[in-house]
Amino acid sequence: MQVYADNAATTKMSGLAIEAMIPYFDKIYANPSSLHTAGQEAKEVLDAARETVAKCLGCQAREIYFTSGGSEADNQAILSAARYGARKGKKHIISTAFEHHAVLHTLQKLEKEGFEVTLLDVSQGHNVTAQQVKDAIREDTCLVTTMYANNEIGSVLPIAEIGAVCKEAGVPFHTDAVQAAGHLHIDVQAQNIDMLSLSGHKFHGPKGVGALYVRRGLPLVNLIEGGAQERGKRAGTENIPGIVGLAAALEDACTHMAENTAKVTALRDKLIAGLSQIPHSALNGDSVNRLPGNVSFCFEGIEGESLLLLLDAKGVCASSGSACTSGSLDPSHVLLAIGRVHDVAHGSLRLSLCHYNTEEEVDHILQVVPEVVQLLRNMSPVWRDLQTGKREYIL
Ligand SMILES: *Cc1c(COP(=O)(O)O)cnc(C)c1O
Repeated sequence: MQVYADNAATTKMSGLAIEAMIPYFDKIYANPSSLHTAGQEAKEVLDAARETVAKCLGCQAREIYFTSGGSEADNQAILSAARYGARKGKKHIISTAFEHHAVLHTLQKLEKEGFEVTLLDVSQGHNVTAQQVKDAIREDTCLVTTMYANNEIGSVLPIAEIGAVCKEAGVPFHTDAVQAAGHLHIDVQAQNIDMLSLSGHKFHGPKGVGALYVRRGLPLVNLIEGGAQERGKRAGTENIPGIVGLAAALEDACTHMAENTAKVTALRDKLIAGLSQIPHSALNGDSVNRLPGNVSFCFEGIEGESLLLLLDAKGVCASSGSACTSGSLDPSHVLLAIGRVHDVAHGSLRLSLCHYNTEEEVDHILQVVPEVVQLLRNMSPVWRDLQTGKREYIL
């Protein structure tokens, strides 16, 4: 049995999104900036897609800018707020310790330019509170940027409360909603969100296309200079098939959100209940405010990489928090930020589900994960030390 349980990394495209894209490769392929009829036809399609995305977020079409993905949207939002803040002498930014690298690395770049960054602690309940944001806001704060939902451990942040705090203080609020868009109900007006990033490939749309919502009136700086596309804020001939696919996938996800959430949450909860039976294990992330598809565990006495390889051999595609691909043996910054010590953080497993997953697949995972964890523990010198009392259990 083959089970794809890595939907937080990327998703399979929906048939609907693929179908929607096809005409824009070989039939309606003109440049939307061209004045001829074919070009204007492409322009209309672009406008319609922008309208669709805006409707899903509760904003106006002119507040949507298409980008090459979530990373670009995060970079542009943060750098824009920073440049604007600096002009007014405000160089303090608030974020959280468990953001995606698209946010954290952009903030590190700004720190080198003299910005001061406060990363809020996420060890209490594996989440942040609006009160933490409120307490961190200063006279010179030019931006609050917190993710909507965490990609590794599934915690869903109190976005409406954070938005209210930011509005009251008059500080712009950006949220990296790449894991939330198409999965959770978003209303940028009601939630007081000033800027929001999303990415097509996290909700069954195409890769390499995303969107940035920016509240009207907020300044935006360009990352890419050139033509006047995207109202002069993002140069380059528009990726019409990608934009159409993103809009179709987002609309589909928002239309079927209630039923998808019910199905995926049930699968998630069955997995969490089953895996919790493994001794010396711990669930990562907020147990209540949690993405419907996220299951994240640490298992003491094993290495996440070995676990992934053995699961792969048994047909299960999963992910671990460890950054071994980058050649470093550092465990995930997210797991460290929630307070997992290095040894425990190394034994992590993330299973991320979507509505294409089935109960049979969950049963398969529940059969193989405990077997593989036991197999690895039997070979582990650390586990032997724990069992003989030479070392103390942490979990
Ligand atoms: C995937 C992801 C991104 C990056 O999006 P891309 O479209 O792959 O650039 C950013 N933030 C979060 C939370 C993500 O999960």
